[in-house]
Amino acid sequence: MRIHLCGVRGSTPAPGADFVRYGGHTSCVAIAPDGDVPRLILDAGTGLRRVTALLDGAPFAGTIILTHLHWDHVHGLPFFTAGDRHDARVALLLPEQDARNGEAQSKEAQSKEGSAGAEEVLARGMSPPHFPITPAGLRGEWFFGSLAPGVFKAEGFTVEAREVPHKGGRTFGYRVSDGHSAMAYIPDHCPTALGPGPDGWGEYHPAALALAAGVDLLIHDSFLRPDEVAAEASFGHPAADYAVALAHRAGARRVLLTHHKPDRTDDGLDALATRFRPDPRVTVATEGHRIDL
Ligand SMILES: [Zn+2]
Ligand SMILES: [Zn+2]
Repeated sequence: MRIHLCGVRGSTPAPGADFVRYGGHTSCVAIAPDGDVPRLILDAGTGLRRVTALLDGAPFAGTIILTHLHWDHVHGLPFFTAGDRHDARVALLLPEQDARNGEAQSKEAQSKEGSAGAEEVLARGMSPPHFPITPAGLRGEWFFGSLAPGVFKAEGFTVEAREVPHKGGRTFGYRVSDGHSAMAYIPDHCPTALGPGPDGWGEYHPAALALAAGVDLLIHDSFLRPDEVAAEASFGHPAADYAVALAHRAGARRVLLTHHKPDRTDDGLDALATRFRPDPRVTVATEGHRIDL
């Protein structure tokens, strides 16, 4: 499989001269089963705009899978030119949600409400007055569906979805395999519990370990520096060191550090890369790069 890194920033885009080398677009990874035409897209941050260029004038025909619904993972949707045209065919899948935000609800209230439709959930953030159009306003043939944790097929890939700890909304990590190689994508994820844990960076969640077990490449949240953890760990992100330690513990062959903090400049990311340079298995994600597995 060929993996295109279309957006490697977390939280909000980072434009400007200090961010040109690593890129400012938010979360989006496009995967091509063979050749160079992406069919499977993980997350629809503003980096989704770059996928249009990869398609070289053709409409998108494929599947978009969201890890969760935070802005930095959906804001590219209405600006995806190759998907918003009459000849596009897009299936968009997102983690199954409670009818209202489940976190503040009792179990009884949740079961009474049932689960909310994928299109309706998406429309909460993409409809007037927040945005001029609803998901139904996207041109082409769009299908919106919800995912439960488990294994399914998409665009010829085997995809495994598992719920991972993050903050403020149900969040999945994914493992994608083509039968030859496997990658795991966990762009937003924090330790189960703060404190030292087995490697000094917090407790591991079994779902994150399982998704990353033995993969050729783990693409993982690396939002924080160790000195930022005390003040900011409650935002639902780990230290980059947690991502590296998790990869090693799970037996991942390589780890790609992504979901960079919006104010982490190119120099700041160079420093991160330098800190891990003695370990050839660790790379800092750069927008526009592609990786063949
Ligand atoms: Zn995010
Ligand atoms: Zn998030």
